[in-house]
Amino acid sequence: MKALVYTEPKTLHYRQEPVPVLPDGECLVRVEAVGICGSDMHAWLGHDERRPAPLILGHEAAGVVVEGPGVGRRVTVNPLATCGACRACVSGRNNLCPERQILSMAPRQGAFAEFIAIPADNLIEMPDGFSFEKACMAEPLACGWHGVRLGARALDLPLGQARCLVIGGGAIGLGAALALKAQGATDVTISEANPRRVPALSSAGDFTIAAPDAIAEEAPGLYDLVIDGVGFGATRATASRAARPGGVIVHIGLGDAAAGLDIRRMTLQEISFIGAYTYTPQDFRDTAAAIFDGRLGLLDWAESRSLADGASAFSDILDGRASAPKLILKP
Ligand SMILES: [Zn+2]
Ligand SMILES: [Zn+2]
Repeated sequence: MKALVYTEPKTLHYRQEPVPVLPDGECLVRVEAVGICGSDMHAWLGHDERRPAPLILGHEAAGVVVEGPGVGRRVTVNPLATCGACRACVSGRNNLCPERQILSMAPRQGAFAEFIAIPADNLIEMPDGFSFEKACMAEPLACGWHGVRLGARALDLPLGQARCLVIGGGAIGLGAALALKAQGATDVTISEANPRRVPALSSAGDFTIAAPDAIAEEAPGLYDLVIDGVGFGATRATASRAARPGGVIVHIGLGDAAAGLDIRRMTLQEISFIGAYTYTPQDFRDTAAAIFDGRLGLLDWAESRSLADGASAFSDILDGRASAPKLILKP
């Protein structure tokens, strides 16, 4: 099969690779659309020791089952494979399973390829005629959905009354903003530094869009719920300042692991900090259902390219030439 293989930092080769071997209970899926994630960028830059080269990256996939249970089904793919038996899995928090595997991390090759192997339980069937490009966004949108659910649970008021700030208008941040609306929030501001992204953000939903400088000039403590969809020291500092006393910060981004949080303010003002990693199987199913019935909007803000042109898509994202919050590759 053809695949886009990460061979060394900042290098991708579109070349012939063996089709994955199919373990019992798994399906072979012909990939029709696969999104480029921030974590793929991170690995491609050589910054992820969990993803050493050579490796096929990519974990945001939709396609058609061609072998194994349910041949012919059109599906979106939950890329997290878990044991199903540990304490985390039994309680429904499979994302915390110590045995968890994700597509694009050894031993599982990723989805920038014609085919992937994935457990049958990880597949969610799409409605007839629904586009693969939109269906593959279930993965990044589920991260936001999960973060919003955790944040809403910790808030001392209903989401519908909460003033919400999302830091970062990439797919994670925009996904969180759309999930906020779908779960009942009405007042949602997105902070985004790249002006080229603003038109796509404005058309994706009913949000206030603000530059980070404008947020920095606001009085502290204006927001009940702050979602950091970037995860750098500077954005955590913004989150610490923007959250009101008794408010909640949800941290989804994995930018860096250094400073930024104002622990003293968070302690004195009882601000909750919640880490959010991926999604539970139920969050993934709920997100897919919300995508299929239109509760997350038209999802027309992604840009599609051919998998063969994947290398240039990566460099365009790195150089800020890609204005769409999500780039999708088609094998
Ligand atoms: Zn992703
Ligand atoms: Zn488990």
